[in-house]
Amino acid sequence: MTPMLKQYGEWKDQYPDCLLLFRMGDFFELFFDDAVTASEVLDITLTARDQDKAIPMAGVPHHALDAYMGRLVAAGYRVAVCDQVTEPDGRTLVERRVVRVVTPGTYVPQESDGDGRLAAVAMNGDTSSIALLSAGTGLLEAGTFPADEALSLLFSFRPGELLVPRGQEADLSRRIVELMAEGGARPMIVPRERGEFSPQFASSWLCGRWGLSSLRAMGVEDDDPASGAAAAALRYLEETQFGGADHVHGIRPLLPEGMLILDQTTQMNLELVDGGVSLYSVLNRCRTPMGRRLLGAWITHPLVRLGEIEFRQSCIDAMVRDGPLLRSLSDALSGCRDMERALGRLSLKVGNPRDLGAIRDTLNALPGILEMLGREDLGALRSIFDEAPDLSNLRGLLSRALSDELPRAVGAGGVIRSGFDASLDESRDAISNAEENLRAFESSERERTGIRVRVGINKVFGYYIEVGRSYADRVPDDYVRRQTVSGGERFVNEALKDIERRVFRAEHEIGEREDALYRELVGAVLDRSMECQLASRAIASLDVLRSLAEAARDNSYVRPLMDGSRTFAVRGARHPVVERSLGVLPFTPNDIVLDPDSGEGCIAILTGPNMAGKSTYLRTAALVALMAHMGSFVPAESAHIGLLDRIFTRIGARDELSRGRSTFMVEMVETANILRHVTKRSLVILDEIGRGTSTYDGMSIAWAVVEFLGLHVEGKLKALFATHYHELTNMVLPGLVNLSMAVEESGDGIRFLHRVVTGPANRSYGVEVARLAGVPNLVVRRSQEILSGFEESSSKSKEGLGEISRKYAQKELFFDVEREGVIERLAMSDPDRMTPMEALGLVSSLRDKSRRILGLG
Ligand code: ATP
Repeated sequence: MTPMLKQYGEWKDQYPDCLLLFRMGDFFELFFDDAVTASEVLDITLTARDQDKAIPMAGVPHHALDAYMGRLVAAGYRVAVCDQVTEPDGRTLVERRVVRVVTPGTYVPQESDGDGRLAAVAMNGDTSSIALLSAGTGLLEAGTFPADEALSLLFSFRPGELLVPRGQEADLSRRIVELMAEGGARPMIVPRERGEFSPQFASSWLCGRWGLSSLRAMGVEDDDPASGAAAAALRYLEETQFGGADHVHGIRPLLPEGMLILDQTTQMNLELVDGGVSLYSVLNRCRTPMGRRLLGAWITHPLVRLGEIEFRQSCIDAMVRDGPLLRSLSDALSGCRDMERALGRLSLKVGNPRDLGAIRDTLNALPGILEMLGREDLGALRSIFDEAPDLSNLRGLLSRALSDELPRAVGAGGVIRSGFDASLDESRDAISNAEENLRAFESSERERTGIRVRVGINKVFGYYIEVGRSYADRVPDDYVRRQTVSGGERFVNEALKDIERRVFRAEHEIGEREDALYRELVGAVLDRSMECQLASRAIASLDVLRSLAEAARDNSYVRPLMDGSRTFAVRGARHPVVERSLGVLPFTPNDIVLDPDSGEGCIAILTGPNMAGKSTYLRTAALVALMAHMGSFVPAESAHIGLLDRIFTRIGARDELSRGRSTFMVEMVETANILRHVTKRSLVILDEIGRGTSTYDGMSIAWAVVEFLGLHVEGKLKALFATHYHELTNMVLPGLVNLSMAVEESGDGIRFLHRVVTGPANRSYGVEVARLAGVPNLVVRRSQEILSGFEESSSKSKEGLGEISRKYAQKELFFDVEREGVIERLAMSDPDRMTPMEALGLVSSLRDKSRRILGLG
């Protein structure tokens, strides 16, 4: 063990769960198992420190640390950065210290958009408290919700890490596996001490930190376990960033009652923000990274308050009508940089001069933006900036102080503009004079010695006087030889050393002074970080609204009429994403009308051949509803939409074999979720239920589900149901209508018109679609024969189906989800593992539910 490896071992012992990156000169090295892991993840060469190859080693250049760290973190590793904190003197061991711990939830990359997402969750029976913290922007949100809603919120936040009180990790992991298997990257679960989640501890710690007497000032109750989750998240950030969390200025309450709930399946089914082609990609015309992040959040958190929706609509309206304003705002916003993240990085102590530059450029763009919004008719848009304070002093300071082009690191010079600081200017003059001095020195030496000396500089030896070989015997006594080169000899003398000393001193002074000024500027920015954050958020909102306005104008979207009614009437609706991907081919618009109050249909059964456009129609309904609740305009000729509380979707067939669930099981789990949570204000989209099992099983389930939605949900909800079971078109239920996809039949096959018409499809056309798909004629003909046989034998039983439905419609609720829920909870409880308080809590909640079911209030 060399002393250096001993030092390594001491740090590694303190950070056993991290890959330790150990600075050695220009490299960060990893040793032992860490080296093996890193070489695999990063695809870098695995070498060895010793001849016996007992100490594996792998390294990355220090200037590329950020990129490599990003890849390690993305692969789910925690990384501790152990840097050199003293200058190497060649004799003693360099002192090293862990200066940062980077984890999947706290990593804020230097060059790309990520903002480090960390969440904390504490489960407490029926409810869960969650905190969502963005390390890059300093936004901390928290709230307590019914367990499934909390998980939906977590899902849409997509944290890199999830903190949980020790003891709850197994339970949480199980739920996360259930919830997120299809949603891509799962967060890393990090158990923390239970005490960190205690609301009492949390509120006094947080109040102390922010100088408050009660968290209520921020809209969070002091004894709300949400404050515990918030404190746990913030502590973790402080711990990993060594105190750099000053940009987190408070908790913002998460208000799902102010948001339309999109459960996790719906978020995935509708392809909202993921992948190449998504709703996000259609709507994103944002000019700033802050806007792009906020647009993602608006899509996954639509609103339900009419006032807020109408506010956004009127902002968009103003811009849609004013092309020049849209353009000039676009130019002005393009000048804004990621101020939010730059602030975060400076607070996290990983910032650099370019972050200051980003803040300067953004503050410089602000007055122009405000001037554009100064017109009287733009009051709504202007009001976005009501809370953004005047930052002209800071703007002035940064503009005066910073150079136009900024380096990525302090120390190399070029951060501070000349004319800002007298002593810095002096040192810089000294350097620029040095060139002149050298030339003067050279000519005076030529004169003095009578030899053609040449003065130059070499990286290793510094300044030198070069004398050609032919003059070797005429070198004066005061020249000291330094180096022999091919053309002659190189010397120094006292006078030259003096010039050199002055240059080095000036360079050193420049470095020191720039460093001090840089720190002062960072201090000045961080002193006003809260105000800068408010300005960033206002810019982000404007950017998103402008983006939605541009998308609305270019794609001919209209402003939907939103109100408290239960109407859903969208004329000429188009699917925003399919429309885009069809390119020049025309998209066929369709009406989607579901209105429980008009006596027309509010539950529609949609039949038609495969590929005719059923799924597209269903998704159009969901996406138009969602866009309207975001405050966006919608792809339609006109739209009248009553406020919804939830959008549920059950779409397509997919296996989740990794979770041990078959296609059918997945379908049923999702269907169960809908049936348990649906209300009369919900929109339900069901695409082919019961497909994953035998025809009769599937059809019976589908039938019962439609009946349940039609009969059970008080006042009836709005639902669209696509199916291949033609038998369902025989159902008779109040509010139930049949729709189908129009198809043109001709001698040589069928053509899809993508038009929705009233009435059930004549037949299923499955065999024709098989022909279109290129199934050999022999097989197509044979299937037609078999089909005719089936149709004949079942026509009798079909006739009876309408009658059965009528009988059912008379009946009371045929199964009672709530009752089942009570029994299930009881069955799932484990008295042996409950505290008396938990048991009491369970009894009391079951009692409340039972009384409600029995109508006892
Ligand atoms: P399946 O029953 O096999 O799931 P489907 O009836 O649900 O089929 P979709 O997947 O909705 O059919 O549509 C198939 C294709 O038809 C879409 O990918 C799209 O290209 C096109 N399409 C659907 N609706 C329209 C429309 N209204 N206008 C133009 N093209 C459409």
